[in-house]
Amino acid sequence: MKSDPTTPRAWANTLVRMWGPRFPVDVQQIALEYSKRFEDPVRKIAEAPVPNFEGALAPLSKRGGWAILYNPNIRSAGRINYTLGHEWGHYLCHRHQAPAGFECGESDVLGGSRQQEREADLFASYLLMPLDDFRAQVGGQRMSLDLLKHCADRYDVSLTASALKWIESTPLCAAVVVATNGFVLWCRRSAAATRARIFFPSGMELPDGALAAARSSLVSQDDKDLPPGVWWSRPTREVVIFADHYEMTISLLMFEDLGVLPDGWENEDAEDVFDRFTR
Ligand SMILES: [Zn+2]
Repeated sequence: MKSDPTTPRAWANTLVRMWGPRFPVDVQQIALEYSKRFEDPVRKIAEAPVPNFEGALAPLSKRGGWAILYNPNIRSAGRINYTLGHEWGHYLCHRHQAPAGFECGESDVLGGSRQQEREADLFASYLLMPLDDFRAQVGGQRMSLDLLKHCADRYDVSLTASALKWIESTPLCAAVVVATNGFVLWCRRSAAATRARIFFPSGMELPDGALAAARSSLVSQDDKDLPPGVWWSRPTREVVIFADHYEMTISLLMFEDLGVLPDGWENEDAEDVFDRFTR
């Protein structure tokens, strides 16, 4: 089928156009229906309660075709939908390169560093949270935990997934920092923050005074203005998500006195931008 899309984002946009502006996007229905046009369709989507395993794309040896599997023990419902989107992305983009399929852990599904994992992640993000609709939800509003929750509910994704979508789409200078047990696991920056060379390396200890570092004192606050010198040499607003497991924190950092990108910055090829975020 020579007219099939060739990139994760183009695949997602094609399916979004067919599905229409209805949210949340039903990945199960799309995967089962749309893949019928291929000779090796997705024949089933099923639970597979395997430890340390979030989702998988598995070849069906007897019948041919594929199964998408997901771990039903994933605690946040929104993460199941995102995981299904990720595996459906592997199917569309990678199955011919990987006849044995994929098994994806939590770190692959969100924030993964390998090329194919990043591509599946990008696909899931654009399928479940089309950019135009996402911008219509958040455009011009002050980012807050309530706004993130609104997005997570609308798209049936996790707060982390909606935070990463925001970072990717905002012209503001901002970063998402994911930490566990007080140390940075990884960070993702907006295009403006990348230009400003703001960066929080993996392994960095959460700074004293950071909202995310205050977990042990049972803070109820989830939004705070911090002075220069806590996170960066500029005033910083931090919105924090205290995840309910793994001692994980997700900080949205906003450097509101720094530059906003001009209109049109996003017309750069999105996958190049995505690439730069992860380097
Ligand atoms: Zn994967």
